[in-house]
Amino acid sequence: MKALINIDYTFDFIADTGSLTCGAAGQHIHDALLALSKAFVEAGDFVVFAIDRHTKDDPYHPETVLFPPHNIEGTEGRALYGELAAYHATIKDAPNVLTLDKRRYSAFHGTDLETRLRERNITEVHLVGVCTDICVLHTAVDAYNKGFTLVVHQNAVASFDPTGHAWALSHFEHVLGARVV
Ligand code: ZN
Repeated sequence: MKALINIDYTFDFIADTGSLTCGAAGQHIHDALLALSKAFVEAGDFVVFAIDRHTKDDPYHPETVLFPPHNIEGTEGRALYGELAAYHATIKDAPNVLTLDKRRYSAFHGTDLETRLRERNITEVHLVGVCTDICVLHTAVDAYNKGFTLVVHQNAVASFDPTGHAWALSHFEHVLGARVV
């Protein structure tokens, strides 16, 4: 069984006016990311939307001093970007769709994602979203350590840092044993 983990494709990370945006690189993957999401949902595969959730100026969160405020709860910045938002609204209650709040880079950290995958006998995790070298990378590392087979869709991941993006794609393949497709 396989699952698609759709990471942080929100206004703050993608829109031109988003607070921590990948900009054009993020907007460029919109169609591929949407098509993959639809394909997995329609095939009955498990699809997880793992979305960063922060509170403003959280003094206990390490990202507070590393990045501008982003994906603050209750703000438009946390909304899914583009056509993904309307599509998500139509499928969010389906039994094979889960929307997950995360507080750290990895979708596994502090969430019940691993339990959700194990109870569905899922062994293969497909990754799309942003940023290739931050949240996608940390999710991939955790998935690797937990023994999941990894597939990264290179036309549906992006970063604001082209060097980091290229490095991460190589790391997925050569260090984490992922299929980069
Ligand atoms: Zn964050």
